[in-house]
Amino acid sequence: MKKLCVIGDPIDHSLSPIIQNAMIGAAGLDFAYGACRVLGEETAQWLTRAKTEGYTGFNATMPHKQALVKLADELSNDAARIGAVNTVCIRGGRVYGHNTDGEGFLRALREADMEPAGKTVLVLGAGGAARAVVYKLIEAGAAHVVVANRTVARAEQLCGEFAAAACDFAADTLASYAARSDLVVNCTNLGMTGVANQFADLSFLERLPAHAGVFDLIYSPRRTALLERAEQLGLQISNGLGMLIWQGVYALEHFAGEELDEAALAAAARAALEELE
Ligand code: NAP
Repeated sequence: MKKLCVIGDPIDHSLSPIIQNAMIGAAGLDFAYGACRVLGEETAQWLTRAKTEGYTGFNATMPHKQALVKLADELSNDAARIGAVNTVCIRGGRVYGHNTDGEGFLRALREADMEPAGKTVLVLGAGGAARAVVYKLIEAGAAHVVVANRTVARAEQLCGEFAAAACDFAADTLASYAARSDLVVNCTNLGMTGVANQFADLSFLERLPAHAGVFDLIYSPRRTALLERAEQLGLQISNGLGMLIWQGVYALEHFAGEELDEAALAAAARAALEELE
């Protein structure tokens, strides 16, 4: 049986074991997927242990995604461009770092009927998740990407690496960009369960054109205040559950070293998550 797990700190609330074990069952793979709490300063130690204990691979969440970029022997294109690794495969003692968050985001966006090619996109936030989102939006042919962030310098840094424009997070700035956007992607943690802060002002949503979509990376709660307001306004909406599921599907394909029945895996993951509700 091949050993897999997710590492992070905290790790107790990770949904990866539920999703991955459901997909492993659906694919009939002889894998076991667990969860390990690994502290931020112990990424390298963990990697040594993972090799010694014969792990086939693992997923990584906060705070390990950046550290693994330096520790991997080889990086996929996405991991190198995004500057973060969320999926590690260990083969013949070598460490291969992948990033499936970006691909997962794009698949979920398209599944929600929000094709970004040719579109003007307003990205809220400039943290780790926003890096994957901005990179994939541009790769997928978005015409204009604007990144609004509370800390403008962080947005400017991100936009300096990718062909995007940075702006501040003030209500009137968001309103002015919203009026010209086809899609809004929330990559902040505003509205997330366990985070006290909410959007102070959602009136920018009223400026979006009627055909616009609002995609929130947050999946807990399933419906944030941002999505609720967008839905009230008749806009197309999606939460981050699809992204979570698809990044997991792509991760499992890396672990298995082959293409699997992706639709069947995603359905199994979705069913397992629905059982939790
Ligand atoms: P991160 O690196 O910590 O970035 C957080 C972002 O939120 C930063 O842009 C930060 O702005 C902004 N922010 C935080 N508090 C704010 C406030 N009070 N007002 C305005 N902006 C604020 O986090 P991350 O890893 O990118 O994750 C962001 C979100 O995406 C989380 O909710 C996470 O759960 C979600 N996510 C979902 C998936 C999925 O599979 N669906 C995958 C990855 C992440 P500053 O730069 O000014 O601090």
